[in-house]
Amino acid sequence: PNQQVAEPAADTHIRFDHAFSLAGKLALITGGGSGIGFDIARCMVDAGATVIITGRREQPLRDAVAALTADRPTPAAHYVVNDVTERDRLDGLVADIETTYGPIDVLVNNAGINMKKPALEVTDADFDRIVHTNLNSVFSLTRACAGRMIERGTGSIIMISSMAAYYGIDRVVAYAASKSAVEGMVKVLASEFSGKGVRVNAIAPGFIETAMSKTAMGGDPDRFARAMRRTPMGKFGKPEDIGWAAVFLASDAARYVTGASLPVDGGNSIGF
Ligand code: NDP
Repeated sequence: PNQQVAEPAADTHIRFDHAFSLAGKLALITGGGSGIGFDIARCMVDAGATVIITGRREQPLRDAVAALTADRPTPAAHYVVNDVTERDRLDGLVADIETTYGPIDVLVNNAGINMKKPALEVTDADFDRIVHTNLNSVFSLTRACAGRMIERGTGSIIMISSMAAYYGIDRVVAYAASKSAVEGMVKVLASEFSGKGVRVNAIAPGFIETAMSKTAMGGDPDRFARAMRRTPMGKFGKPEDIGWAAVFLASDAARYVTGASLPVDGGNSIGF
């Protein structure tokens, strides 16, 4: 699909409709069947991309694809059932997707898990499970895609990080460790891939209304009030707020942006 996109000459003004367009691009979004991943897929489809969404459960993926393709003449969304923690299957996943749908232009490492427990109660198995999903698998899938992107000289890789990477938020020790490590990985990969046509960036969401954040708040009004006190804009963000940031980072409008971490957090990053 990326062959259909005319590359603007580097010294010319990119027109608005091209700058933010993902027309002709193929995006792979992990965990795209729900929450933030679904809205990233929706925004990217709106911007003209074809998306492949993944997840462990088939039904949410099937429902998501039905919602993403409703009222569109050409199917712009497809799903593949895949567990990102099965790391030895990720090279095969990428090869199969490229054989069926064409070159992957955009990878969004969105799938992630969290667990709230005081650090002293976190077992090694808890810690490993979170780091395995949020960090180790992200590296393996990124490596699987990036080699192919570098061969083609074009690609955008986006990690969904968290403000937990920046701040000491109680009871998320493994999650914070995994997201901080992802932020470090972004800088190294951006540096290694710079000059090879592949950009690597992160988005650090604040409190976004999804199943994960609802579970984390546990329906506790005190926790919710505390979170909102720490959020200058005083409200949760919508999954779509992350979706449009991802469209920007995937698009030519961000052609000079690499190694960045973009907070989308209603102002949390101003400081607690
Ligand atoms: P949700 O729990 O709502 O969705 C997570 C998605 O990831 C689901 O579709 C799930 O599908 C999929 N997933 C989980 N584990 C795997 C796996 N092993 N392999 C493949 N897919 C998997 O989470 P959010 O949408 O809230 O979070 C998305 C990302 O945003 C995460 O990386 C999270 O850390 C980050 N984030 C979220 C914030 C928030 O406030 N919501 C704040 C900061 C960061 P299935 O279960 O079918 O596999």
